[in-house]
Amino acid sequence: MLVNVKNWYRPESVTGALSVMKKGGVIPYAGGTSFHRGGKITAAGMIDLRKLDLDFIHETESGTTIGACTRFKDIANYDFTDGRKILKEACSQAASTSLRNLITIGGSLSSIPPWSNIPAALLALNAEIEIAGTKASKFGIEKFLTEKPMDGTSLITRIYIPKSSGFGIYYRYSKTRFDYSLVDTAVYIEVKDEKIETIRIAVGNLLPKARRLPNLEESLKGLPINSERIADLVDKLEINPTSSSIASKEFRSNLVKVFIKRAFKQVG
Ligand SMILES: Cc1cc2nc3c(=O)[nH]c(=O)nc-3n(C[C@H](O)[C@H](O)[C@H](O)COP(=O)(O)OP(=O)(O)OC[C@H]3O[C@@H](n4cnc5c(N)ncnc54)[C@H](O)[C@@H]3O)c2cc1C
Repeated sequence: MLVNVKNWYRPESVTGALSVMKKGGVIPYAGGTSFHRGGKITAAGMIDLRKLDLDFIHETESGTTIGACTRFKDIANYDFTDGRKILKEACSQAASTSLRNLITIGGSLSSIPPWSNIPAALLALNAEIEIAGTKASKFGIEKFLTEKPMDGTSLITRIYIPKSSGFGIYYRYSKTRFDYSLVDTAVYIEVKDEKIETIRIAVGNLLPKARRLPNLEESLKGLPINSERIADLVDKLEINPTSSSIASKEFRSNLVKVFIKRAFKQVG
């Protein structure tokens, strides 16, 4: 809940928003879904990001650029035809219809709650995050998740997803459709001459932060897409999930293995 908010600002440019943020204690408001979960948030002011023109999905020759204020429902409805379908799936399976109408990709990346379904999807797609303000830069998604550069005087402006000609598969498991997920898994595979040429596997909601599985990826590279060794190598994966009151660590780590093996079967 928001209490004692003295001012609402409605800037019409990113520069305008950043200059208001410099005042200190002024917080961006995108979808607003993180502010209404309970607890009290006191802020000198809030910045409504809706007039910043950051609600778009653009195609270029090299990939897709998504404005930070683009909502999950618009990404879920967008017609990605290649491996970028991973992001479409992640956005369409997260939360509920009414929440997907509000949640933005930029707000999700800035707050990164442990149940977010965005990081694993963006890791498998090698995404880049553009930031304006004191930390102005383009961050590869892995660096972004490690350095957490949001400092109160920077804004996420765009997310860039390179063209992904391979297969993209995304799974999310929760006890009911609307629960936070216990595990999500994103797998991107490019196959050449029936062999695995490029492979990126990312898991979320399982460890303190979403991450790729580089050792497993390396061991799978070059194998025939239908090789029986794939299942053996995935079964050897050692992963130590954070605890959950809903499901055991064994259940969740087995679930990841099932998801990864299922992705290969689907592609094969
Ligand atoms: C009941 C419930 C269930 C949910 N389930 C899921 C789920 O299953 N999967 C999932 O992925 N998400 C889920 N969410 C959404 C998630 O928990 C966050 O609420 C959401 O990602 C925040 O996005 P937002 O656009 O609403 O951001 P806001 O709430 O507006 O902002 C979040 C934070 O980011 C900052 N911020 C916003 N935009 C920017 C920007 N462009 N640059 C810099 N800082 C910015 C804000 O100041 C704030 O600190 C759920 C939310 C709720 C309430």
